[in-house]
Amino acid sequence: LGRRINNAVSEVTRSNVVDQNVVDTMLKEISNALMEADVDIKLVIQLRKKLKNKIDIDNDNDKQLGINKKKIIQKAVFDELCDLVNVENVEIFKPKKKQTNVIMFVGLQGSGKTTTCTKLAVYYQRRGFKVGMVCADTFRAGAFDQLKQNATKARIPYYGSYTESDPVKVAFDGVEKFKKEKFEIIIVDTSGRHRQEKELFKEMIEIGEAVKPNQTIMVLDASIGQAAESQANAFKESSNFGAIILTKMDGHAKGGGAISAVAASKTPIIFIGTGEHIHDLESFTAKQFISKLLGIGDIQGLMEHVKTLNLDQSDSIKNFQEGKFTLKDLQSQMNNILKMGPLSKIAQMLPGGIGDMMNQVGEEETSKRFKRMICIMDSMTKKELESDGSLFIDEPSRIIRVARGSGTSVTEVEAVLLQRNMFARMAQTTKNMQNNLPAGMGKN
Ligand code: GDP
Ligand code: MG
Repeated sequence: LGRRINNAVSEVTRSNVVDQNVVDTMLKEISNALMEADVDIKLVIQLRKKLKNKIDIDNDNDKQLGINKKKIIQKAVFDELCDLVNVENVEIFKPKKKQTNVIMFVGLQGSGKTTTCTKLAVYYQRRGFKVGMVCADTFRAGAFDQLKQNATKARIPYYGSYTESDPVKVAFDGVEKFKKEKFEIIIVDTSGRHRQEKELFKEMIEIGEAVKPNQTIMVLDASIGQAAESQANAFKESSNFGAIILTKMDGHAKGGGAISAVAASKTPIIFIGTGEHIHDLESFTAKQFISKLLGIGDIQGLMEHVKTLNLDQSDSIKNFQEGKFTLKDLQSQMNNILKMGPLSKIAQMLPGGIGDMMNQVGEEETSKRFKRMICIMDSMTKKELESDGSLFIDEPSRIIRVARGSGTSVTEVEAVLLQRNMFARMAQTTKNMQNNLPAGMGKN
């Protein structure tokens, strides 16, 4: 999808004359791409109309097209896509301390409810809330064991039953128990079904009546396609959920279907699930979501991640965004990466086959190799470090000197130079992409 939209936009950017014809073609392309990505046709038609109006506003300037017009078009496409997932006038639920907040989860089987319950429990626990989890899934065998295992790992108190088969009773008893014990957040996990079935929705209505949730969250698998709208409608009717969590955003799915769920239920996405582990929960932002949809998510995500870590990075990131990348940048980035903790997740986002290295030789070995590379760069002169490495090609004796100095080999020094090249190419790509983005996006 992303590629097609990008293509459509850059088609316009490439052509010298931006007349109505070109714009129409672009709009058609975008519409087709969105429909292919399972976005509802009604939404697509709306979007197309809006885009057409926005772009027409600037009609007078058709003769002096140039960069401005192109930027306007790009920004319009991006903004409209963001608007599709930004829900206005919906108050985001904020649990209050020193009182009971019941949060109920709904969603089909396999969407990621139980996993996400635990993630959210951990999220609130880290923010100082007293959190408990209730397993009201009596439908699927082993459901309680799964929740118990998750909760134990995360040190979250839990409630469930091996013998009681009435989900409404378990939910009610669990919530009552935690209420008495002055728990501040009680998360109720429910059962799902493979398909949308009457019994499921009846069950959701009954559990809802029993536990009176302050917030109900629908969990949606990012790979959901055309079914998103009807699923959202069905759950909205039975449980009136006030928020959506989109799971499995770490996979191939870009979550295009979720747009229709948001539009149909007029309910915002609040978090995205980005992995199977308890900390893989991230706040949702429309900008980032649409960036991913447009195929520029990974770099953006990496930048965001690096930003939150407060690392020594200012110059490198600036260089990177300007399309430059010196050996010194490589060294400071490798140092940063080692400081970041779990390598595995970061590594997947990095260029230069580092992800592959991780998968092949494991985390410990990768970290060892990193340290050797950093050591190699320590043996370089200031001039060498601040270069793009071409110095070494012009004067191969430098490679031998560095290899000796660092107690490594010529091959290893060459590997460092290669690594820098790959990062530099990535930096160049990033720069090109950023230049093709509307103002305010990507760079901030
Ligand atoms: P439930 O049936 O709705 O309770 O779904 P589960 O919580 O049991 O999750 C179903 C599967 O999806 C499990 O294998 C989870 O580990 C996996 N899963 C859940 N959320 C995510 C996510 O954000 N990313 C990935 N990669 N897997 C997830
Ligand atoms: Mg479950």
